[in-house]
Amino acid sequence: MADGDGGTLRTKAPFFLGLRGRLVAGILVVQAVLLAGLIYEHIRDIGEHLGDQAQLRAQQLTVLLNASLATYLIQADYAAAREVLEATRSQAGLAYLQLVGPRGNTIAQAGESPKLPSSVVPNVFDEKAGLFATAVPITMAGQKLATLYFGMPLDFLANAKRHAFWDSVMIGLAAMLISAALLSMLTVWITRRLGQLTRAADQVAAGNYDLDLPLGQQDEVGRAIIAFKQMAESIRAREEELRESRNHLLFLAERDSLTGLYNRHYFRHEMQRRLDEAARGGMEGALLLFDIDEFKLINDSFGHQAGDDILVAVANEIGRMIRRSETFCRLGGDEFVLIAHSATEAEVSTLAQRIVMTLGNMRFEMEGGQQVRLSCSMGVTLYPAHAADPETLLAYADAAMYQAKRAGKNSWQLYRPERDSAAAHLAMLTWKARIDAALEMGMFRLVYQGVYAMPGRRLSHVEALLRMYDEETGRLVTPNYFIPLAERSGQILDIDRWVIRESIRQLRLHPTMPPIAINVSGRTFDDPSITGYIAEQLREQGVAPTRLVVELTETSALSDLVDAERFVRQLRDLGCHICLDDFGAGFASFAYLKHIAADTIKIDGMFIRDLTHDEQSQVFVKAMIEVARGLGVTTIAECVEDEATLAMLVEFGVDYVQGYHLCRPREALPGMGASWEAGH
Ligand code: C2E
Ligand code: MG
Ligand code: MG
Repeated sequence: MADGDGGTLRTKAPFFLGLRGRLVAGILVVQAVLLAGLIYEHIRDIGEHLGDQAQLRAQQLTVLLNASLATYLIQADYAAAREVLEATRSQAGLAYLQLVGPRGNTIAQAGESPKLPSSVVPNVFDEKAGLFATAVPITMAGQKLATLYFGMPLDFLANAKRHAFWDSVMIGLAAMLISAALLSMLTVWITRRLGQLTRAADQVAAGNYDLDLPLGQQDEVGRAIIAFKQMAESIRAREEELRESRNHLLFLAERDSLTGLYNRHYFRHEMQRRLDEAARGGMEGALLLFDIDEFKLINDSFGHQAGDDILVAVANEIGRMIRRSETFCRLGGDEFVLIAHSATEAEVSTLAQRIVMTLGNMRFEMEGGQQVRLSCSMGVTLYPAHAADPETLLAYADAAMYQAKRAGKNSWQLYRPERDSAAAHLAMLTWKARIDAALEMGMFRLVYQGVYAMPGRRLSHVEALLRMYDEETGRLVTPNYFIPLAERSGQILDIDRWVIRESIRQLRLHPTMPPIAINVSGRTFDDPSITGYIAEQLREQGVAPTRLVVELTETSALSDLVDAERFVRQLRDLGCHICLDDFGAGFASFAYLKHIAADTIKIDGMFIRDLTHDEQSQVFVKAMIEVARGLGVTTIAECVEDEATLAMLVEFGVDYVQGYHLCRPREALPGMGASWEAGH
């Protein structure tokens, strides 16, 4: 509906090509033909009529002349006959009279006769000579005496015809002029409304539907106008509908249906646009990625509706803080992202701080009166400083968010490339593919770290720790590079099954070695078939379940208490030992010990690393050991890095210790040559 199109359609046709011109011209041509026919007929009629008159007159003359001439001919008085001829010629206005005897001799003559025709043809109209020539016999008592030839001039006939012709032409012209004028007025009247209709169509084509068309006349044009108006109205309605559904489709395509925020699809598009803009204009900005801490726990404890309500509340609360230059999107689940375009690093850190604080201040009253307090962890990346494509930028923000989580949650972290090794940098994007390849090509390895019973420092069991072999560097990659990603992608299920299989295989190969403790992710014990799988592996390989210790982290178990409880119960029924890893790192460790029937708790490394200098940690560790003992649960301290820490732990009454001070993770197993004595 471009204006240009309308313009070409609207060009005005010259009058003779227009409807009016053609109508008038057509009717005038028809009229002219009819008039020409009429005039021709009229003149012909006049000619015939005058011819008849001439003949009548000739007959009258003949009777008179016959009477007077016959007498003179009998008497042979040719002079008198000639006088009669002369008198008749002048009185009757004849051109000539000639009396011819039976032998062809001229008896008398008046006026100049043309050359006589050889045979007498009566009543000849000689147009060339302008005469009506006739010949009549002069008789008496049935006897033919002579033949009289005479010619009447036809001037009067020609004059009458000419007059009649010009009269007709004048009348015809006048009639044509009057009818042309009337016709023009008529066509103007008819086509005026057609012209209005054409202009209205141009208006509609240009998208203007407020038409000023005269209604009321019930003729064909009037009905066309009514139909046109109705058509324009329905086009307007359709266009309105189309616009609405287009907007709705756009909304659906770009928005997240729960919160109404922009979705992942829009985020990608917008991020790319902002990055392009930054590349062109030297501008910079930041990407802030955050998720709600322990959101799964909220969902599982209070139901998905409560989870959804919280997501909507978060979207609204943070949405209120967003400026025009910022774009706020929900990527899915509890993951939100914010693009702060043309913001300085200082502005970004203020914004990040505000979001973390705002979320930290949000409280929810749940059914049953329970209060839930939110917090979030956020990773921040700067563009174009950190990366110039949306995927990498998001992956780095994800890594920074993970760092924030590791640092205790409810906080934000700026992505620091130096924290990532160069290899990890490059590999970040391709981790998913690398994990798949590692699973397929057997690139996963287990390293083992000894766990020692105190105070005798006797090797109690070993913990199997996962590594991925990097062919390019020949190094073993530690799990914090790929486990969080594998947990998100679901690949952790395959990884954990591989670890289970491999550990049990090692136990079968080394029947005298101490038990192996394996780490199992929260995602894996969500899977109801996993305990069946462990039992099957133990049975198939002929390994006693008591030689397998299963470690689950407190936070993962906490996020799905029901699954964790079931998982732990089934494993204990099977005969395996259960150890709660990273104990104390969560908020409700003790409360949850009540639900999970563990054999052992492993006190988180964050309490141990600085134990000798941190009195608070000492209080916590003592309390944990005390409570565990009260519940009949043994304790392990991980990350023991020096003798002083070890001594303090022994003093507190810890049952087992693990850490670099006693044994670094290694590939060899006890009984394979290397000494597993503590401290080696
Ligand atoms: P975790 O189970 O708490 O394992 C202890 C981590 O502390 C290991 O890191 C170990 O190498 C490290 N560590 C041991 N002693 C010391 C010490 O004295 N000082 C310090 N600073 N660190 C020490 P690693 O192997 O990088 O594993 C990290 C985490 O990855 C593990 O924490 C565990 O949660 C997870 N993980 C490891 N292997 C597996 C596995 O096979 N499956 C699953 N699902 N997760 C695993
Ligand atoms: Mg562990
Ligand atoms: Mg641990």
